[in-house]
Amino acid sequence: MSYLKQKMLTDSVVVNENVVKVDSFLNHQLDPVVLKEISKEFVEYFKEKEITKIMTIEASGIAPAILVASEFDVPMLFAKKAEPSTMKNDDQYSTDVHSFTKNTTSRVLVSTKYLSPDDKVLIIDDFLANGEAALGLMDLVEQAGGETVGIGICVEKSFQPGRQKLEDKGVDVFSIARIASLANNEISFVEEE
Ligand code: 5GP
Repeated sequence: MSYLKQKMLTDSVVVNENVVKVDSFLNHQLDPVVLKEISKEFVEYFKEKEITKIMTIEASGIAPAILVASEFDVPMLFAKKAEPSTMKNDDQYSTDVHSFTKNTTSRVLVSTKYLSPDDKVLIIDDFLANGEAALGLMDLVEQAGGETVGIGICVEKSFQPGRQKLEDKGVDVFSIARIASLANNEISFVEEE
């Protein structure tokens, strides 16, 4: 069993049958051992792909994404959820993303300077639920004329429709921990083949 899955079993908190909290090692306090193990798994899975950039969305995707970027020796670009005054004069790609946990829609953006038609992007995020964040990031890559070559997810809730939506777009989705159910305050993982 992967290190992340073990950590989920010992250190996460099931909030309800749809949400699991991982604040002690991934979403608030960050455990470097967990992050390094996560990064190793992504690198092993995507190592044959030609990747020019890692992309994520602030804030929780940033930590795993930067470690993966460091292994592939490429830049990491994170989409911003609010426009800082320093970006007011920059041309931007933007798209709307509905947040599963906050139940709000925000416009996320990146400067056009950092995405080009030559980019082959690996998207990394902490969770996959309805796929909104990943679809939004794919949209930004598409606006730039680049290509999303894969999506790496730390924790996928496989009982929600995110994976299906992304696979329908023809993209390779790899998730380290796939949760089949959070019923009865218990995490059960999708059985590995
Ligand atoms: P999606 O865009 O796929 O619907 O949701 C993914 C985003 O929602 C992730 O980036 C993550 O921040 C948040 N998220 C979704 N489900 C959960 C969950 O069960 N627990 C936590 N901690 N975050 C979640």
